[in-house]
Amino acid sequence: MKDSILVINCGSSSLKFAVLANSGQEVLVEGIADRLGSEQSSITFKHQGKKTETLLANGSHKNAVSTIKQWLSTQPSIEEALVGIGHRVVHGGETFSKSALINQDVLNGIKECAKFAPLHNPAHVKGIEIAFELFPGLPQVAVFDTAFHQTLAAEHYLYPIPMHFYREHHFRKYGFHGTSYRYISQRLAEVAKGSEQQGVLVAHLGNGASTCAIRHGLASDTSMGITPLEGLMMGTRSGSLDPSLLSFIAQAEHITMDDALDILNKKSGMLGVSEISNDCRTLEEAMNSGDQRAKLALDMFASRTAKHLASVATSLDSVDHLVFTGGIGENSSYLRQEICRQLKVLNIRLDLTRNNNAPRGDTSTISPEGDLPKVWIIPTNEELMIALDTISLIQH
Ligand code: AMP
Repeated sequence: MKDSILVINCGSSSLKFAVLANSGQEVLVEGIADRLGSEQSSITFKHQGKKTETLLANGSHKNAVSTIKQWLSTQPSIEEALVGIGHRVVHGGETFSKSALINQDVLNGIKECAKFAPLHNPAHVKGIEIAFELFPGLPQVAVFDTAFHQTLAAEHYLYPIPMHFYREHHFRKYGFHGTSYRYISQRLAEVAKGSEQQGVLVAHLGNGASTCAIRHGLASDTSMGITPLEGLMMGTRSGSLDPSLLSFIAQAEHITMDDALDILNKKSGMLGVSEISNDCRTLEEAMNSGDQRAKLALDMFASRTAKHLASVATSLDSVDHLVFTGGIGENSSYLRQEICRQLKVLNIRLDLTRNNNAPRGDTSTISPEGDLPKVWIIPTNEELMIALDTISLIQH
């Protein structure tokens, strides 16, 4: 059956892609075009276990998509099975509560939401327009990071500021990583029968990090806000803090509010505290060699994650499962242990042997046998969700 999907995740200076076949179960090729817009831009293809990297002469997004198209033309069996293109879109605002087959109205809606994601949404629009131009026969679908969180109740998504800001400008919590949370919720239902009727906490911990509470399969609260800056401490983002700091930083450094915000987005978090790196693995290596700044950054990350898990848990009737996912959640036994140690109040306990020996890249439980809440590691798979949504929407 022809059901291969080209999945595109277009960022401002990068473009990740993959072709998924067999109902999204098989990755035929994947890669990334990096440093677009600079002279060092390059594109990598990973196919049949082999990685090839070539320089992109004119490193534009369009050049990257045409290089993918050229590569596909050398692999007719992959190219001919393509039935659609799925795009990851960061912000869908209140317009999109589920994935959408892209037409001019949908494209206009994505442009409209660019005010909340000025770096991401314009890049997605570019990727979609280029894909329509270069793959004219293929239907395209947009899958939104915010969509899963559209089930939050008003008391959770509204900010306690004058209501006219919401009425006139739609300033509210939107939440992100929704495609990952939707995948985790569905995957958990496969391995833990009945979990779709229970209370689930998920910590998506990667370079960007957030928490989500899922009640009866629907998002009930999440830590990120109108932008991905709110909530947890992250690789380079501060997460939640007293908003007055923005003005103090601007005054202290004689910079604009926008520049101060840039510091909170790009120079804070684990990078800002450790003064070493935003990368968890690098910080764990430094901590293991005795670096106290790295340990402080990791311990602050753990304590804030625990707090935000407890915070979103208040929207649940019970906590039956806690799932760790994302690069850090799936791989850092140190942080999982530190986070769970601070969640005794929710009766969360870890089996330390299971936590330390969890198989990489697999679903596993790391709480003691029979304990409730059950603690899981579930590798996320956003590309699979994008491929499945694309297949389902183009078949209707
Ligand atoms: P993501 O954004 O989901 O790709 O996750 C990236 C983060 O995962 C980075 O901070 C990495 O250092 C971290 N990470 C990946 N592998 C490991 C590992 N084995 N141990 C600790 N952190 C890891």
